[in-house]
Amino acid sequence: MSDFLGALSAVFFPPRCIFCGEVVRYKETVCPSCAEALRACERTGAAVRGDLHCAAPYFYMDFVQEKLPAIKKREGRVLADWFAPRMADSVRRTFVGERIDWVTYVPNWEKEGERVYNQARVLARRVSRELSLPLTDALYQIRPKERQHMLSAAERLRNVQNLYALRDEGGVERVSGATVLLVDDIITTGSTLLACAQALPGTRILGAAVAVTEREKQVSGNAGPS
Ligand SMILES: [Zn+2]
Repeated sequence: MSDFLGALSAVFFPPRCIFCGEVVRYKETVCPSCAEALRACERTGAAVRGDLHCAAPYFYMDFVQEKLPAIKKREGRVLADWFAPRMADSVRRTFVGERIDWVTYVPNWEKEGERVYNQARVLARRVSRELSLPLTDALYQIRPKERQHMLSAAERLRNVQNLYALRDEGGVERVSGATVLLVDDIITTGSTLLACAQALPGTRILGAAVAVTEREKQVSGNAGPS
């Protein structure tokens, strides 16, 4: 759309903040008050879960904790568009000098032949584009998962053990020796990522998410979804 037509259409269909719906200025996607609330949740540096290093631009707290769950729905795609470049930046900053071979994601439970919306895949696809890396549908989920959020860290780990497996077309030979960026939306205990890593033998796994919980919150048992 030309700038003129874009500006004209913005008069009749004013752009709205993707987080709160407030009218924003032409070509903006987030209102000043949401931008401020997001800034308060920003984090830097690697989050470590077990041996796994993870890049995430935000803490799962306050505004991010309130708004991020909407990404699980198809309508939340617009949030994925917004968060993915920030995840890619966080990956670049956290894993300086790492040569990543490909990107994959935490799969969903899908009955045979069924394709369900997976926010982790949507994020992984966008992040892979940002980083000019291939995206691989490497894993699948073997069985439905019990809900995680009422479980302790140890129970979560048991709940997700042997939950994921390599897709046939993944081919263990192609997997072995690779450095893989494994994407999820939120990381709390890291049990889900660690379970996925088990299904990718011989690889070096680097985690990436929109948000991670602070360790202190997690230790006190006040953790959100996996
Ligand atoms: Zn807003």
